[in-house]
Amino acid sequence: MNKKGLLMIISGPSGSGKGTVVEELIKDENFVISVSATTRSPRDYEQDGVHYFFKTVDEFGDMINEGQLLEWAAFCGNYYGTPKAYVEKMLESGKNVILEIEVQGAQQIAEMYPEAVSVFLMPPSKEELIKRLTGRGTEDEITVERRIKRAEEEVELLPKYKFVVINDEVANAVEKIKMIAESEKMRSERYKNMVEAFK
Ligand code: ADP
Ligand code: 5GP
Repeated sequence: MNKKGLLMIISGPSGSGKGTVVEELIKDENFVISVSATTRSPRDYEQDGVHYFFKTVDEFGDMINEGQLLEWAAFCGNYYGTPKAYVEKMLESGKNVILEIEVQGAQQIAEMYPEAVSVFLMPPSKEELIKRLTGRGTEDEITVERRIKRAEEEVELLPKYKFVVINDEVANAVEKIKMIAESEKMRSERYKNMVEAFK
């Protein structure tokens, strides 16, 4: 049996609830989140090394040049990327690693790791998305508008994901993602070594 953890991508429009759902999900010890690097400024509640590794553009450029990032992308005027070392270490230790990333990064990961499990987290409606995004109160009006426009483009890529979860209630969405992980762990390709061992 393959004891490696699953590489799980969670994407979805800004405000769909990715951060909220993932925060709940990682209360389960089988899951860990990969903390990304970004050039965006921290929000009031965000801590360096917990929510993101906050970097200058130069520092981010160095991380790319030194091959430290598994993937990276520009999103609404800032750079975001996944540090490679932590992800590899956690997968080896058997943890399911969550990459909460946008669609371009997700595409890069899906090409490099076809076995990665991709989940698109959708809000119940566009109206609800706008309500959540404005209600969060962390971005100014122009940024909110940019993110809503970007959301329209992102949702077009929904068919590229293996699974879709509607984030109506946080607990429901968390439960569904856990169900997906459990099923993926039962895929026959993870049990190939049992065939030899059985002879
Ligand atoms: P994202 O990480 O996708 O940008 P957040 O997790 O920051 O989204 O959620 C955006 C806002 O919506 C937050 O204020 C959060 O509390 C709220 N929210 C998240 N999930 C739900 C839900 N299922 N029902 C109602 N509000 C939610
Ligand atoms: P936010 O500024 O709201 O924290 O994040 C903006 C977008 O960047 C979200 O869609 C989030 O999933 C994405 N994101 C966060 N970290 C990464 C990363 O490491 N790589 C990529 N490609 N996207 C990321």
